[in-house]
Amino acid sequence: MSPRCPRSGSRTSEATGVTASSMPSTSSESPVVDGVCAAAYAIPTDRPEGDGTLAWDSTTMVCVSVSAGGVSGFGWSYAPAAAARLVEEMASELVGQPAFAIAALDERLRVTLRNAGVSGVVSCALSAVDVALWDLKAKILGVCLADLLGPARHEVPVYGSGGFTTYDAATLEQQVRGWLSAGVPAVKIKIAEDAGDREARDLRRVRQVRELIGAEVELFVDANGGYTRKQAVRVGRALGEYDVRWFEEPVSSQDKDGLREIRGLLDLDIAAGEYANDLPEIRRLCGVVDCLQLDATRCGGFSGWLRGAAVANAFGLEVSGHCAPHLHLAVAAAVPNFRHLEWFHDHVRIEQRFLDGAQEPRLGVLRIDAAGPGHGLCPKTTDLAPYRTA
Ligand SMILES: [Mg+2]
Repeated sequence: MSPRCPRSGSRTSEATGVTASSMPSTSSESPVVDGVCAAAYAIPTDRPEGDGTLAWDSTTMVCVSVSAGGVSGFGWSYAPAAAARLVEEMASELVGQPAFAIAALDERLRVTLRNAGVSGVVSCALSAVDVALWDLKAKILGVCLADLLGPARHEVPVYGSGGFTTYDAATLEQQVRGWLSAGVPAVKIKIAEDAGDREARDLRRVRQVRELIGAEVELFVDANGGYTRKQAVRVGRALGEYDVRWFEEPVSSQDKDGLREIRGLLDLDIAAGEYANDLPEIRRLCGVVDCLQLDATRCGGFSGWLRGAAVANAFGLEVSGHCAPHLHLAVAAAVPNFRHLEWFHDHVRIEQRFLDGAQEPRLGVLRIDAAGPGHGLCPKTTDLAPYRTA
């Protein structure tokens, strides 16, 4: 993937704080990591995109390749380009270590990065490495990753997501009709435009979508933390007129007391979790949401997603995959307490254009038996090349 692959030069165990004996010994089944590469690509959106609290015109995809025994695993995150640089700095901690020892490798990297903190962009970098290691392991074993994890289902339901506040009515209608033609059972749009300053337009757009989708398709909204607590309750009650079932981040997901309060006052599902990096944050959110969102590109890759789903299960909650739909497919199939996966326009467009193996939902589901060895996705590096920034 990158012409600048660090391939050797492991630090001493004293420098990392991880002792040699803490790593599992290499077995005949586990080749050692012999290469780690990373690159970042800034891909323009097809039109300006925005939600309640942020607007953007490009999305950065950080791609990671980890190789062992002549096989490469591929992982990625939607994150700042700095994540690619971090992965290259981490390469020396991975090279020479047993590729199958994913949990031990993750611990080794976290110790190395301790002083930088392991949330935010660091967690995105760790997530991309974890995804690449799982893909690598499944490919070496010659199995579909979903089979390696042990599927709970073979069909993964998706819901249409986008509906950006930057869209005019005609663009919104075109997008919603596209989702309906894919048979999705639910659609989600962004609200809380201008940090909640355009409530009347928010509700007009919700009404437009309800009229488009009819009574049978579920309608979700995402405020991206754009409302105040009392405003969220007021808007939430107005959303009832349009039978909205899912109110995502009515207030900032940092405001746990606010989420709890709003959840107690409204009868639609309160959802959050897309920024959670670690299990303590996931545990805090479990006490204040009706469905936990988890993003494997941020929360520690497949390993972090599966652990987060187990925590949610202990609270009696279902989980929903946040964005990056193709990346989530294998873990979405693997957990018993799974609700749905977000078919997010921005990432769908990138994944269908730049990844071999990308799918189109049929009757509202993606099928895991369509995936090849590993997670079944490979980057089209030639097509990506013009967008490379790091
Ligand atoms: Mg959201």
